[in-house]
Formats: sequence, C-alpha cells, structure tokens
Amino acid sequence: MDLRCHICDSESFHTLVNYGSYYLQCSNCDTQNVATSFIAIGPQLTGKYDIIEVDDQINEIKKLATGKIANFITMISKEAYQGKIILLKRK
Ligand SMILES: [Zn+2]
Repeated sequence: MDLRCHICDSESFHTLVNYGSYYLQCSNCDTQNVATSFIAIGPQLTGKYDIIEVDDQINEIKKLATGKIANFITMISKEAYQGKIILLKRK
C-alpha cells in the first residue's frame, strides 16, 4: 500500500477498528487518514495479524487473537461495536 500521511508525510500507520469503521491512524502525528467500513474491507485483508484491544493512545490492553482477519470478522465487529478500539497488527 502506497500511502502517506497528508499532514506529516509519514508512511507508518496503525490499522484500527472502532464501531463499524476501519481506519488508518498515522503513528507519527496521530492523524486519522483513511476510513472505510470494516465489514467491507475486513475479508480482503490477507496475511496474519495480531488482533489487539488498545486504548486511545494505542497502548495494548489485551491480545484477542492471532491469525487471518477473515476468521475473526464477527469477533472483531462485536468488540468494536462495544466501543473498544481494536488494533490490527500485521505480523
Ligand atoms: Zn502524520
């Protein structure tokens, strides 16, 4: 993915899910860059991820699962709709 932060030009992002939204937050300046529907994009994410509940400073609270996102769509959606912030960390 060729993507840069529109504020600071960083190429480093946290991939987060909160409620029904999937978004990329710049890991340098915390600007939210791209948002879309998690249900739409979740099944298209390939590779293995650590699925981690974090706070709004992206501090790790609890690791929920490891594996393909497609296997955890329902679980991630359920957690995110409770207001939790879920970090998808590519392994
Ligand atoms: Zn930035």
